[in-house]
Amino acid sequence: MVIMDQLISIVLPVFNEEAGIKATIDTLLNYVEQQKERYELIFVDDGSKDDSVKIIERSMQQNENIKLVKFSRNFGHQLAITAGLQYTTGEAVVVMDADLQDPPEVIPEMIQKWHEGYDIVYGKRIKRDGETIFKKITASAFYRIFKKMATIDMPLDTGDFRLMNRRAVNQLLKLHEQDPFVRGQVTWIGFKQTSVMYHRQERIAGETKYPLSKMIKLALDGITSFSMKPLQFANIFSVVPIVSGIFSLGYLLISRNYSLSSIGITILLFTLGLLLLSVGILGSYLGRVLEQVNDRPRFIVSETEGFQERNKGIRH
Ligand code: UDP
Ligand code: MG
Repeated sequence: MVIMDQLISIVLPVFNEEAGIKATIDTLLNYVEQQKERYELIFVDDGSKDDSVKIIERSMQQNENIKLVKFSRNFGHQLAITAGLQYTTGEAVVVMDADLQDPPEVIPEMIQKWHEGYDIVYGKRIKRDGETIFKKITASAFYRIFKKMATIDMPLDTGDFRLMNRRAVNQLLKLHEQDPFVRGQVTWIGFKQTSVMYHRQERIAGETKYPLSKMIKLALDGITSFSMKPLQFANIFSVVPIVSGIFSLGYLLISRNYSLSSIGITILLFTLGLLLLSVGILGSYLGRVLEQVNDRPRFIVSETEGFQERNKGIRH
């Protein structure tokens, strides 16, 4: 089923992209004009200090399908995406970089999968051009470590380039985390998800707006919002002093060497073990507090069947 008049919203976070934003807009408009769907392009200016806004506004005068949300300062890529989603009205929403690293030619493939019944279609990078070896290695390591630690099964090597249908976007917008890790949130909400492979291009112009400090913040936000494991590290580490303490006590009793230093070491090892254990226990409670504070919905129902009409409006 292909509905000719479907509206697709494209959300593009922008931070100091004056060097390439014009090319991005023109390429996207050119792409959009050849499609059967209707499109709106929603740019979210994340506190740019350059002429990005002026360039976008100039294009807006020629095309009413371009929209702009301006942040009062730089709040970061993830919040820019979240804000953009709030302003979308399309039946499906595509999120992409404003530097043409995510090729528009992939969008029809995503739409095709959506028409096949998928709620979320994420872009999986098979190749990344124009990025430093350091970035490729750290990104690849992060996704693999994250997979081991996190409670969600986030697909490897996916960024924020993806299509989501209306019901997925609406659920995503119910998450109100202060420092959102959007790609994790999207996995968390569930529904039918699939991927399309794509070749990540080189930036059209300018430098990456993700210096190491922002990459580290993103990685930490990801881990702290989807893994409680670091909170329990102390529990694991406590095993070392406790087991050593037991050996030390055994040695003390067998050798009958009751010197001050042997007794002291034994007591020290046990104390350290108990301290670490206490920290681990605190961590477990803190984990529960964090979950409560995150205030995500406890579950999401995708469909109900066989109910009478009056039971349909239950809210979660
Ligand atoms: N961006 C943003 N706020 C920031 C950093 C980046 O809105 O604080 C935008 C940026 O303009 C781009 C997208 O987010 O459209 C992804 O950033 P970038 O392309 O620099 O990241 P990379 O592709 O190098 O990982
Ligand atoms: Mg980019």
